[in-house]
Amino acid sequence: MSEYIVVTSDIFTKYRAPRPNYLDTPERIHTVLKLLKMYPPLVKRLLFLEPKPVDEAEVLRVHTQQYLNQIKRALRSGSSWSLGEVYVSSELYEASLHVLGAGKLCADLVAEGKLRVGFVVARPPSHRAGKSRAGRYCLFNAVAYTAKYLLDVHEFKKVAILDLDLHHGDGTQEIFYDTSSVLFISIHEYSEFSTFTSGWIDELGRGDGEGFTINIPLPPGTAGDVYLHQLNTIVKPVLKQYKPEVLLVSMGFDTHLSDPSGDFLLSVSDYTQIATFLRDVVDESVERKCCIVFLEGGYNELALARGLVNMVSVLTGGREFFREERRSTSQVVRNFVKSTMRNLRKKLRNWWSL
Ligand SMILES: [Zn+2]
Repeated sequence: MSEYIVVTSDIFTKYRAPRPNYLDTPERIHTVLKLLKMYPPLVKRLLFLEPKPVDEAEVLRVHTQQYLNQIKRALRSGSSWSLGEVYVSSELYEASLHVLGAGKLCADLVAEGKLRVGFVVARPPSHRAGKSRAGRYCLFNAVAYTAKYLLDVHEFKKVAILDLDLHHGDGTQEIFYDTSSVLFISIHEYSEFSTFTSGWIDELGRGDGEGFTINIPLPPGTAGDVYLHQLNTIVKPVLKQYKPEVLLVSMGFDTHLSDPSGDFLLSVSDYTQIATFLRDVVDESVERKCCIVFLEGGYNELALARGLVNMVSVLTGGREFFREERRSTSQVVRNFVKSTMRNLRKKLRNWWSL
């Protein structure tokens, strides 16, 4: 059995919100799979698996009964409806149960020592769903569920979640804010002009969880050079000290320079660099030498597909397929980041050697 697993299903392409500005479309998944399958030597290294949906009791590992009841009541009424920024339908509900199932499948393979890298190629995304609320396009939180399932069922003691989506993983943060069993690190865009309400540097966890939530907010105009610098100078040393048993990654490609939802300037080649970083950090700092990458955002389909194919290739021992010039971050943005990160490091030194 290959240790490089892709978990995906047709069910992730079976719903479409009847709104022109709803960026989470079935084409996101279609484009990724179509591009991936154009490279037979890469496909040969991968094992494609179909997830099963989890049952409702499993959902309650990370969400409240009240929230689940609210969703089911609305679904029974028969009409599609909106919950925050999620256009909920029975098809989206089914797909969401399957995304959790994909995480569960990968978690079981990790516990059996049969997975080195897992890719959950699915929609809807999930990192913004909290205990009792939906987030932008996210109904249930699959990355949080997978971490909780590993702790509860396979008795893991330390799981790390690295959130590399453009948006703050506020749902994941909320779910693990009080525990040291899950280290949560998020790099995301901060803008005075957006609806940015969480992900500040002084959100560091609570009680037993103090020091185990780390937020790295970066301004619009951040390119791959500054982004990679944070990975190497903050994320890497913290993971080395935490030594998780497994690394889960919420991977968003909405950090791409062409993405309609943000103002970061990462190029497709930066995703190659991120994959190289992940490969090295898993090798050096993750006890079981494995990681599971969950697709979160990314709304320019081609950039998403090229970025993900580069990552799949590099994380499975292959080469970069798609090159795109790497941009530089302006001096103004660099100076801003420098002063924010100086403050963050000062806070983090209460728990970590940096
Ligand atoms: Zn996002």
